[in-house]
Amino acid sequence: MKHRGVFLDRDGVLNQAYGFRPPNNVSELRLLPGAAEAVRDLHQGGMKVFVVTNQGGVGLGYMTPQELDAIHRKLLAEIEQAGGHIDEIMACIHKPKEGCSCRKPKPGMLTALAAKYNIDLGKSFMVGDREVDIEAGMAAGTTTILIETENVPTKADHICDSLSTAAQLILELTC
Ligand SMILES: [Mg+2]
Ligand SMILES: [Zn+2]
Repeated sequence: MKHRGVFLDRDGVLNQAYGFRPPNNVSELRLLPGAAEAVRDLHQGGMKVFVVTNQGGVGLGYMTPQELDAIHRKLLAEIEQAGGHIDEIMACIHKPKEGCSCRKPKPGMLTALAAKYNIDLGKSFMVGDREVDIEAGMAAGTTTILIETENVPTKADHICDSLSTAAQLILELTC
């Protein structure tokens, strides 16, 4: 049987972003209010939870792969502490203009995880705070949810004000 998946963007969805800059080291990682509990609720609701994040700063030399790994280990630990579980964090570390197949808005990270974890993308969700997240989710065939940070036109199927409300919506839509 195939699983449902929830694909989460990282910066601005799970943790605080610094304008357009992500946290560049472990001490800058700050989970957003309610984010860990939202992941717990999705996990307890039987969803596989993944993080798909563009981290072009690694390719550009602003952050080492080791620093990115350390940030992700801490992120996983904080989610686990709240009773949640993330099945895998996948990051695109290529330079933004490198033309790779994984950098959102391309759907490469979602399709790779779907194949690895036996996910039905048509019964899955992509949650992000930027239109590139929504476009990647659409290209993969998921239902898309924009965490609204500003009043922009969006192609997203749904708009929520936080990951908490997005998680409740997903659980309502799938029950
Ligand atoms: Mg983001
Ligand atoms: Zn890439």
